[in-house]
Amino acid sequence: MISNGTFFLPGPTEVRLEILAQLTRPMLPHRSAEFEAIYANCDAGLRRIFRTTRPVYIASASATGLMEAAIRCAPAGTVLALVNGAFSERFAQVALSCGRTVVRDDIALGMHHTPAQVEALLERTGARVVTLTHSETSTGALNDIEAIAQAVHAHGAVILVDSVTGLAGAPLEMDDWGLDFAFTGSQKALALPPGLALGVASQAFIDAAAENGDRGTYFDLVEFEKYASKSQTPNTPAISLFFALEAQVAAIAAEGLETRWERHRIMQALTIAWVHALAGNLDPSFGVLAPPSGRSPTVTCVTLPAALSGVRVAAGVAADGYVIGAGYGPLRDRTIRIGHMGDHSPEALVRCLAVVRHVLVGQLAGG
Ligand SMILES: *Cc1c(COP(=O)(O)O)cnc(C)c1O
Repeated sequence: MISNGTFFLPGPTEVRLEILAQLTRPMLPHRSAEFEAIYANCDAGLRRIFRTTRPVYIASASATGLMEAAIRCAPAGTVLALVNGAFSERFAQVALSCGRTVVRDDIALGMHHTPAQVEALLERTGARVVTLTHSETSTGALNDIEAIAQAVHAHGAVILVDSVTGLAGAPLEMDDWGLDFAFTGSQKALALPPGLALGVASQAFIDAAAENGDRGTYFDLVEFEKYASKSQTPNTPAISLFFALEAQVAAIAAEGLETRWERHRIMQALTIAWVHALAGNLDPSFGVLAPPSGRSPTVTCVTLPAALSGVRVAAGVAADGYVIGAGYGPLRDRTIRIGHMGDHSPEALVRCLAVVRHVLVGQLAGG
């Protein structure tokens, strides 16, 4: 039984039934004019979402695939990995596993990085490449990508942005902010099934990558660039997911990207107000993990009183027909995460939060 408006996991996110229905369409040849037309519509829609005139690469992979592509295609030199949670840590690990020299800057979970910190680190390390998350899904922290990109470029380095729970929920301006590479996955704020990774490289980034001989095969962005100019992919794409993507970029255009950002801000504000009410009425230990200076509009990580467990709360909520996230990694039991992203309405979110509150009250009473 699929019930819309109940699935608030911070990824994968709820997919509307009309979008899921696209997955039952018959196959077509991927080297065909018919597929190229679908590809072109997906590309055009995604350019509007990334705010870019560059082609958007569409890889049949989870988002981590393009994380690896970003590293494999990045210029030589030390990688400065800004780490404030599990996904920015994964970026650092990917760089290490690809044989790069990595300097990590680990900050407290829930915190975001500052341009001044980044400038100092670049001066000290001489790093040529900087990795970070836009919205750190494990903690709900939001990095100021525009300001950090300025700091990175002032030192002549390139910035690789994991915007997996940012893009289509939080403002991101690929061209205006001069980003070198940014990527997302289909299953977060785009509200599609998992299986596609979407990324954009600047012309300068891709030109430099073409001079670097060690890019591998499957995630070679230079190949993606070549095929994108023909509205094709280098290998057989996940065709069914392209049907869903084409429908969803049209739906996002119809809503309007800025309206979509605003809807996410409204859902974030509702969630934060709900947490404040929990703290005022139930227990002062309820709180938003991330400070007001850097909170993601797509996911909120809520700290719990010591008597509660994030895993048990999420299980209790599931028993009442809603899905939210427990904490992630070391925060697994100390927090819960509400994924208020994708195609959810504020009204559905309010219903979800009422259910979560009911579970919290019950478990605090020893239930
Ligand atoms: C979900 C997520 C990823 C990983 O995505 P996969 O599709 O599982 O590879 C990476 N970064 C962030 C910020 C995420 O939220």
